[in-house]
Amino acid sequence: MISEFAGSSTSDLWLSQYRDCACEPLCLTVEKARFVIAVHAGHGPACREYLGASAFMAEFEAAY
Ligand SMILES: [Zn+2]
Repeated sequence: MISEFAGSSTSDLWLSQYRDCACEPLCLTVEKARFVIAVHAGHGPACREYLGASAFMAEFEAAY
């Protein structure tokens, strides 16, 4: 899943920013939320990065 983002310094930055499953994802944008969801997919309900990004996308999709 990560391969589609490989080679970009932006994705390296986001990876280091959002790699900790115990932390809520901060300062999300739609692109970052999609990235976090791709990176943390399958981590289960204990992964707060995934939950936070999912909630962000749900809000975004509800608003538009
Ligand atoms: Zn995770």
